Amino acid sequence: ASFAELDLPRELVETMAARAVEKPFPIQAATLPNALAGRDVLGRAQTGSGKTLAFGLALLARTAGQKADPKRPLALVLVPTRELAQQVTEALTPYAEALGLRIATVVGGLSIGRQVGALRTGAEVVVATPGRLGDLIGRRDVHLERVTTTVLDEADQMCDMGFMPQVTEILDQVHHAGQRMLFSATLDRNVDQLVRTYLKDPVGHSV
Ligand code: AMP
Repeated sequence: ASFAELDLPRELVETMAARAVEKPFPIQAATLPNALAGRDVLGRAQTGSGKTLAFGLALLARTAGQKADPKRPLALVLVPTRELAQQVTEALTPYAEALGLRIATVVGGLSIGRQVGALRTGAEVVVATPGRLGDLIGRRDVHLERVTTTVLDEADQMCDMGFMPQVTEILDQVHHAGQRMLFSATLDRNVDQLVRTYLKDPVGHSV
């Protein structure tokens, strides 16, 4: 599939063209049609495969045109580390801006006040590490009941780092009918458990 066949919002296509993103990488060709249609996705993919735009373009396209209420985001990306959260936010910001969507990055080790502020202004997309997001949920500084797309990026790393209790607690607060996408380099027992519990009839892809 080419990007042109995917019926992406014009703003995304223009931003892609400006950044020399012209031909889909294999994981994007394999997952984007289904992800854009709202299906759950299971991607086995490493860094460098293009997985960020595979889930990012889908979640932004599906969120386009909506406005979040304060503290009530519409899309959520969970990642294992602060560094990856910042990378994902940087990669998706030009696309989000083109669509008028706001991203709040919610990670440990940085001022919680600024993150709360970003959530209060009504960020549509939250990119978060599980520990800090769990803290903010506990403080009622964020509510997940309007989230319709949830991404778990580097799920194996989140398992290895001991984040499973927080991840499952977070996923249990997100509407069951919502879309879920899980990306992982390996699908070992912990990740497999997540897949079986939280993904509905996922379309799979391995690279
Ligand atoms: P990722 O695996 O998501 O970290 O992406 C790796 C790199 O590939 C990033 O620098 C992306 O900007 C770039 N990239 C992703 N998809 C494409 C594409 N279809 N065409 C050109 N570059 C891309």
